[in-house]
Amino acid sequence: MKKVLIINTGGTIGMVRTPNGYAPKAGYFRELLETIPELHSEETPDWELTETSPLLDSSNITVVEWNRIASAIVENYDRFDGFVVLHGTDTMAYTASALSFMLENLSKPVVLTGSQIPLCEIRSDGRDNIITSLLIAAEGKVREVCLFFGGELLRGNRATKYSADGLIAFVSPNYPTLAEAGISIKYNEAALFAPPSGDLIFHTFEDVPIGVIKVFPGIQFSLFESIMTEKLRGIVIETFGAGNIPGDGNALLPIIKRAFANGTVLTVCSQCPQGAVSLGVYETSGALKRAGAVSGLDITTEAAVAKLYYLFSCGFDKDRVKKNMEVSLRGEMTVV
Ligand code: ASP
Repeated sequence: MKKVLIINTGGTIGMVRTPNGYAPKAGYFRELLETIPELHSEETPDWELTETSPLLDSSNITVVEWNRIASAIVENYDRFDGFVVLHGTDTMAYTASALSFMLENLSKPVVLTGSQIPLCEIRSDGRDNIITSLLIAAEGKVREVCLFFGGELLRGNRATKYSADGLIAFVSPNYPTLAEAGISIKYNEAALFAPPSGDLIFHTFEDVPIGVIKVFPGIQFSLFESIMTEKLRGIVIETFGAGNIPGDGNALLPIIKRAFANGTVLTVCSQCPQGAVSLGVYETSGALKRAGAVSGLDITTEAAVAKLYYLFSCGFDKDRVKKNMEVSLRGEMTVV
């Protein structure tokens, strides 16, 4: 019998109503799982539940929790066939991305899931999300960190939260779906990773000072000068389209050049969920390249943030971080 470890970190799925709105409650989730008969059926894989403490709304998840979740997986790696991480939807794509970098050479499924409606409500989408995630984790076909939601299994570091209230809350705009859960669970074999060649390596993350800037028409770049200090190790710039920024007398460029000289790695992502950054196609993006910025190609902002944490936590210098930002390390970007 296959065995799966469920790691509950909080999020809507296990929340209760409080006078101040939905909030997680320690210990309550075990009771909730008792009320789902399918989880106790003979066809269901064996599972154990562990909870991180405190349980959090995922808006409060930080590098500390990422390290805790990854540690729980690593400590139990040999005892279980797969892992289901229950997590709030708001930052699930960030955590999925972070775990994908933390767990190198993963050979077992790590499936993040949650729900838009708590399990305590009758229309909860959590029931199906958790049952199907459990089956996927036990089946062992995927050997990576993935995210299951609304009937679709997505590569974790390709997923992004797309709907604040729909039950199909995540999309993977630049990579195919790993599996579809209809009447049966159909895997897209061509999109899955082959087994890794080495043993699992656990990379813990450090609390690296990084930032994200989203450009908009009329942006006054000079206002951002104060955050571009030597302290800032990496920054993700969400640009228009294929990597374009407003010219505005190129006010950003001297700032970027200085940041680059300070040792900050600047990664260019697109505000368009679909497609890739291509620096130099337009005059408005070529300058970014000349100023030392790297192209994030079709990476999500979530994965770019997690990747910067990862590379700096590895202790790499600026040049090595920059080089790796343009290489696919865990299938997080399409390098043509
Ligand atoms: N605020 C919640 C969270 O991210 C939303 C959810 O779980 O869907 O924890």
